[in-house]
Formats: sequence, structure tokens, C-alpha cells
Amino acid sequence: MKVGIPRGLLYDQYHPFFTRFFTELGAELAVSPPTNRAILDAGIQCCVDEACLPVKVFHGHVSCLKAQCDLLFIPRIMRLYRGEYICPKFCGLPEMVLNSIYGLPETITEPFYADSMAGLRKWALRAGARITRDRRRIKAALEAAIAEQLRFKTGYDDQGYPIRVALAGHPYNLYDTFINMNVRKKLNRLGIGVVTEESMDEEEMAPEVASLFKKPFWTFARKTYGFISASVAGKRVQGIVYVSSFACGIDSVILELVRDRIGDFPMLVLKIDEHTGEAGVDTRIEAFADMLERSGRVEDHHSPHGQRLSCCESPV
Ligand code: SF4
Repeated sequence: MKVGIPRGLLYDQYHPFFTRFFTELGAELAVSPPTNRAILDAGIQCCVDEACLPVKVFHGHVSCLKAQCDLLFIPRIMRLYRGEYICPKFCGLPEMVLNSIYGLPETITEPFYADSMAGLRKWALRAGARITRDRRRIKAALEAAIAEQLRFKTGYDDQGYPIRVALAGHPYNLYDTFINMNVRKKLNRLGIGVVTEESMDEEEMAPEVASLFKKPFWTFARKTYGFISASVAGKRVQGIVYVSSFACGIDSVILELVRDRIGDFPMLVLKIDEHTGEAGVDTRIEAFADMLERSGRVEDHHSPHGQRLSCCESPV
């Protein structure tokens, strides 16, 4: 039995769990290659126009894998934290894929609720039953997968740079270097280190999130808002670089909340879609780096007069 796992959406964050689970059950794995031009083009061709770039890219990974596996895993990740959801597109991802791509093998699409052990067990028993009837083996595979995931660390925390910025956005926009055109490398080359939300404890974000008039319903909104606000309040960084998908409803809410909270603290919003050109991204990053440098923020970001720059956003 060969299980296909598309290297899209939350693969970068949760691949230890899923790959370990299926291999413990005795399945062989077929994982699509890192995103490239051919994968993006395949995704654009088969996905609806209105979808955001990461969802189109996911469709491309499925297209690339469909002939290489007996069983295709399409993660329907519903919930990672109690009382929150990920995004409506995650909830309906299997339906989008099944109705857009022809010639798919059998699929695993069971809803994934990771906010409780009971939810994980339910998912594991349903998904695992597609490979083996041995319930004890499935439970053992789940334990091994959880342990594997807990050992996994991700995120950026660049040290030794004169300027540091918070690199914010959804994980697939930050860790898929094809989607973001390797924004971290571009910033590093200009002498700017980046830090991502994994380097910050949830407890540090919590007071910022609690100050909102309503608890965010979406996990991405809570974490990104908490990370940016706490980074600015704690004077941890000299700027924010926000990588955002064009047509992402959640990002449009987060950006408004963040702007309201950080005022004129420097923030560069890079809106990306399949038409985004690299030259435009380079120009905007260089201009932002120049602005940070000239502001003297490096020297005086501890001074009470430190916050005096503006937020800039325009399509790339
Ligand atoms: S959160 Fe935004 S970018 Fe991510 S899948 Fe949903 S709409 Fe797309």
C-alpha cells in the first residue's frame, strides 16, 4: 500500500506526525517534491480561480502525486486548539480537490481534530482502518506519531544581525520558499535577521490576544496577532514583514487588527499570488530595509521616540 502525501499547506509543520503514523502502519510513502513551477502551473490549471495561492499549490501537489500512490491523504484539518478552527478552506479541502482533479486514487479525508486525545484517536482509527484492521497497531502508530511530532521543532530565530524583523503569516507562506520567493534569504542578504512565532511562548502572546474585544475564532488570527503585538510591545524587533495570500479573508481581518494595535510601527505587507513577480518583491524588500536602516531604529529602538515610521502595503 503506497500512501501519497502532498507537500502543501500544513505539511511543513505536521509532516513528522503524518509520515510516522502511516509508516508505522506498514504503508510505503510517496511525498510530492518541494513546490516548483510545474506544480504551481498544475495547481492553477485544475483549481478554481478564486482560491488563494496556497490552496492552488496544494492542488498542484495532488496532481503531481495522483499516479504514484494507491491511497491519497488529503488532510481535512479542522481544529488544532480547543474552540478554534483553521480556515473554511481547510474544512472543505477534500471536496475542492475531489471535484477539481480527475483520476484520483482512493482518498483519506477523515476530519482531523487535534485539540483532544479523543479527537486524535477517532481520526487515527478511521484513517488507519484504510490500511489495517489491527486496532492495537493503529493505536501504537498514533502514540509514535504524537511522540515524533513533539520532538519536531520548526521556525526561524536568526541571531547576529544588526536588524531583526518579525516574519509573520501562515506557515505555508513562510516555509514554502517557492511561494514566498525565499523572503528570508532576501532579508538575510540585506543584513536583516528574521524571527517567527514559534520562537515565542503562547503565554507571551496571551495578554495581547486577551486585550481584543473578542477572542479570535481562527487559530491563525489568534497566533499571528499575538505574535506581532507581543513582538512590538516587547521591543523584540525593529519591523514586521507580513507575507499574506491575496484573497485570504483571515489575513484581511488580522491586518486590520494589527494596524490598529501597532500604529505606525514599520510593517511591510507582501501580498502574493501566482502573478507576483520576484523583481517587485525584491524592490519592496530593499526599500523596506533601507527605511529601517535610515530610521536609526537599530540604535534607538529602546528610546521612547523610537516608533516613527509607517506601514506600507501595495500589491507587488
Ligand atoms: S487561511 Fe487564508 S491563505 Fe490559508 S488556506 Fe485559508 S484562505 Fe488560504
